[in-house]
Amino acid sequence: MVLGIFAQCGFAIGWVRFKRRPVLLHLPFIVLSSCLALFMPYWLAYLYHLGTTTSTDSFSDFVWCEGYYFALTNALPLGLGRYLSAFGITLLLNFAMLVFCGVIMFMVHREKPHCPDCDRFFRLSQWDKKVFKDRLSLDTYLAQIKRINHDSSEFKSRLSQQVNFPEQEGSARLLMRLNMCPDCQRQSLTLRVDDYEHYGWSTDVRQTTTLVLDKHTDLSHEVTPIALWAATKPD
Ligand SMILES: [Zn+2]
Repeated sequence: MVLGIFAQCGFAIGWVRFKRRPVLLHLPFIVLSSCLALFMPYWLAYLYHLGTTTSTDSFSDFVWCEGYYFALTNALPLGLGRYLSAFGITLLLNFAMLVFCGVIMFMVHREKPHCPDCDRFFRLSQWDKKVFKDRLSLDTYLAQIKRINHDSSEFKSRLSQQVNFPEQEGSARLLMRLNMCPDCQRQSLTLRVDDYEHYGWSTDVRQTTTLVLDKHTDLSHEVTPIALWAATKPD
């Protein structure tokens, strides 16, 4: 499973790097790359075999010989036939696992917040934070703003409400990340809740939520523009 995830990481890196949501057309390529990942070690061994011997075996003969060798070296207790089947089943299971991991990665990235018009992932543009005295006051504030229509003026005014407690004294903070579609500039707002533990801030991942906003809603004045690469970047 872990090897399968590593083998399919190239797709995930591409989707995230280029902010592109995966499309159904990528599925055949996941199957194709699984085939390549499965047979690549045999192909390299085959090239090595051709380079070091005078053999003229075809690649399929080479793989068959590998399976036969695998069977011969393990066949004594159970019989040759069973181990040849085991070799085939091992190949098949490896292939199924590679495809399965690729499809899981595909589905996870399909579900990530994205612009509904352009199918692109959002890019962080600016962020702000509110520090609360305790988790209870943060939860109350969060419940209130989640109930309000995210594209209304009331939502904007609640968002710009000053609730900042000195960070050293506060025990809970709300991190607000304003993101933007790279194509049409539609915005989304990610709300992340952090609790202060003895050793520092820790994120309550269950509370992290992203609101995809209406196309004409602009929160860039409500979420205080702090430069992305400022020294006070959140951790
Ligand atoms: Zn867009």
